[in-house]
Amino acid sequence: MNNSAQQIRQQFLDFFKSKGHQIVPSAPIVVKNDPTLMFTNAGMNQFKELFLGEATIKYPRVADTQRCLRVSGKHNDLEEVGIDTYHHTMFEMLGNWSFGDYFKKEAITWSWELLTEVYKLPKDRLYVTVFEGDDSEGLPKDQEAYDFWKAFVDEDRILLGNKKDNFWEMGETGPCGPCSEIHFDSRSDEERARVNGAALVNADDPLVIEIWNNVFMQFNRLKDGSLKTLPAQHVDTGMGFERLVRVIQQKTSNYDTDVFQPMIQFIAENAGIKYGEAEKTDIAMRVMADHIRAIAFAIADGQLPSNNKAGYVIRRILRRAVRYAYQTLGFKAPFLNQLVPILAQQFNGVFDELYAQKDFVQKVVLEEENSFLRTLENGISRFEKMEEISGEKAFELYDTFGFPIDLTELMAREKGLTVDMQGFEAELQKQKARSRAATAIDTQDWVIVNEGDETEFVGYDELESQAQILKYRKVTAKGKEQYQLVLDRTPFYAESGGQVGDKGLLIGEGEEVAVIDTKKENGLFIHFVAELPKKLEANFVARVNPLQRTSTENNHSATHLLHAALKMVLGEHVNQKGSLVNDEVLRFDFSHFSKLTDEEIKEVEGIVNEKVRANIPLKEERNVAYQQALDSGVTALFGEKYGDFVRVITFDDAFSKELCGGTHVKATGQIGYFKIVAESAVAAGVRRIEAITGAKAEAYIRQQDELLKHLKEILKNPQDLSKSVEALVEENSRLKKEVEKAVSEKASGLKDELKAKATAINGVNVIAEKVALPNAEAIKNLAFQLKDVVNNLVLVLAADIEGKPSLTVMISENIVKDRGFNAGNMVRELAKEIQGGGGGQPFYATAGGKNVAGLDAALAKAKTLVEA
Ligand code: ATP
Ligand code: MG
Repeated sequence: MNNSAQQIRQQFLDFFKSKGHQIVPSAPIVVKNDPTLMFTNAGMNQFKELFLGEATIKYPRVADTQRCLRVSGKHNDLEEVGIDTYHHTMFEMLGNWSFGDYFKKEAITWSWELLTEVYKLPKDRLYVTVFEGDDSEGLPKDQEAYDFWKAFVDEDRILLGNKKDNFWEMGETGPCGPCSEIHFDSRSDEERARVNGAALVNADDPLVIEIWNNVFMQFNRLKDGSLKTLPAQHVDTGMGFERLVRVIQQKTSNYDTDVFQPMIQFIAENAGIKYGEAEKTDIAMRVMADHIRAIAFAIADGQLPSNNKAGYVIRRILRRAVRYAYQTLGFKAPFLNQLVPILAQQFNGVFDELYAQKDFVQKVVLEEENSFLRTLENGISRFEKMEEISGEKAFELYDTFGFPIDLTELMAREKGLTVDMQGFEAELQKQKARSRAATAIDTQDWVIVNEGDETEFVGYDELESQAQILKYRKVTAKGKEQYQLVLDRTPFYAESGGQVGDKGLLIGEGEEVAVIDTKKENGLFIHFVAELPKKLEANFVARVNPLQRTSTENNHSATHLLHAALKMVLGEHVNQKGSLVNDEVLRFDFSHFSKLTDEEIKEVEGIVNEKVRANIPLKEERNVAYQQALDSGVTALFGEKYGDFVRVITFDDAFSKELCGGTHVKATGQIGYFKIVAESAVAAGVRRIEAITGAKAEAYIRQQDELLKHLKEILKNPQDLSKSVEALVEENSRLKKEVEKAVSEKASGLKDELKAKATAINGVNVIAEKVALPNAEAIKNLAFQLKDVVNNLVLVLAADIEGKPSLTVMISENIVKDRGFNAGNMVRELAKEIQGGGGGQPFYATAGGKNVAGLDAALAKAKTLVEA
């Protein structure tokens, strides 16, 4: 195809390269370090700091293709996906940016040039929109943009739009500005002659769709809703790649392009249903082909499906797809996961993360499918038992069995039932309110103390520095107030890359404030304090707690050694999936499919400790060009966003070389000793190792040593501990057998003795005696044996078992039937004498109690009960 999706993407990048733009890689789809956003929802996300003036501009012109996800928060298209033909969960956004460089004129000129001259889209099918202004915000019409468009487009195809369509905002707060969209009319000439396309722009017509949005970034939306003018003006554009491919390939559905057809055809073949046969099955195929993209890229970028936050969003999308596959397409066994290899192949060379991890991703999807298919069936059988579907029941299906509410409704209709939707909504709101209350964080706007916006981080070289407060803000979470401080200079490492933030002190004029934690947010170093210093403008000394830092460094460097050792022992498929490093332990999650054997663990420990003893000096290189670092063979992590310049941490060039922003030991000897203390599974295909180092490892070994010593002492310091424990265990089991034998001999002796003591009362043979047997089991055996040899028996045995009274009643079945005797009732009555209680069956029952002295009275009572 001479206009394949691959080529169309490349033409976009080449075009903007020719206009002086730097081509940059996509950021991961999963967002870290930004509490306002779970997933990348637009190309501009990774440049947010540049718009806000919080970071230095390296390239004033940039272009890329960014993988985006719109399934939560301000931009949520999930309900449309698959039903319509142009909204996806995951899509590529092609974008070009100007950071304080060109503005409206160039943006408009170039977008027109690209669409009409490079892609040769027919001009008479294009419409553009311009912001009409908004009085309530005090914003004027965007006359400038209007005038630039006039140079290319007839005025009857330049349309004015309101704030909803023509003022773009990333989220509740953050960069925003007026925008100008480009729409494409793909209707037939006939239809176009009949109805003017202008009337269908932004009117949800599936054939007249927006393809590109040019945003002119001018403001920052603050928490109080007001707009603050940005320090400079920027251009942020976003073009939906799948929509662009569709209009260039002259299709009327994104799913008819070569982006989706390979997967759609694979699904259709396996389902034995043709795509295009029926709307219902078409939707199901579209949903599957779409959703697997969101799922696969989220997992490849490090977000595993789970039960909360971003992980739950992924799990829900996955279940939605599985439900369509199961119910509509008849896939009763896991199938979705089989789309992963096709997808990985398709994106190889574009987003390599997926191809590199395709086995892992497929395995995770398969496990998720398996587990949902289990609840899906259970849910269906639970549903079949329901006679009416209250809100609570619908919610149970949703919450416990993972049923989307629309599935419940559909199944209800089939059964001639309706769902109490209001009741369901109420339950859902209750749950939402619960989770909101648990996570609600109220963040105030920043208050400026000193000029400046960037923090100089000196913590790689120093643990103490002079500092001034630049700004602070108050945050309230779960009713607890805290303050966040930004300093002009700081030695405090901010939590990232799994390493916890530093703790320490901020020492001012005559006061000291404890820094409880340090975190990074959009590149800012944020110091958490419980109370603000009194003199905010003072000169401070910022001092990191050195002990905590050193122990943390031991664990971080050990993590690098562990990572390298795991690759050596298990293979190159080992990739980091998560890491936590603090001053107590290190926890390392990695892709691997089976439990580590004791041998493997020993081998890994051995390699790491050998590297510790070799006392390898740290090689730390700052500001290495990213590509150069990759070429030198560093381990880069999937799902991490790296800048153009990176820091490389090496312990022995041939062993461990990682991209890392963390703090490390000066030489590995400082780690002292490395000990793995746990190995477990965390998710499908992901193992976890927990380990300790330094003083912690020493304490652990000492503890083990003391335990051993103690054991030896108990055994009177034998020459060979293992042998004497084995002998002990053997002796113990031999003695046990002997005791059992003795007891059973004694019991059979007792049997004859008791049999002789049977007295006939009222036509039954009563035996009521105290026996000296050591446990309940032996008494029970005796009772059953007596029942076999004495007819018409009422047997009551009393015993003192290690100071506790016990009563057993056994009655022949014919006596139970003919005379209405009941062992359970009798034992309860007798138990009163020993201050206890019990029960059982009509022919056999037991009781325990507190008063051993009452046993004789109980036996006497037994006789009177039979006499009565
Ligand atoms: P629409 O109104 O069609 O939902 P939008 O106004 O939400 O689009 P923008 O936020 O301006 O879109 O995003 C820029 C471009 O990204 C759009 O012009 C469109 O081509 C594309 N786009 C937006 N949402 C999606 C989606 N869910 N799936 C595919 N492409 C999308
Ligand atoms: Mg939208």
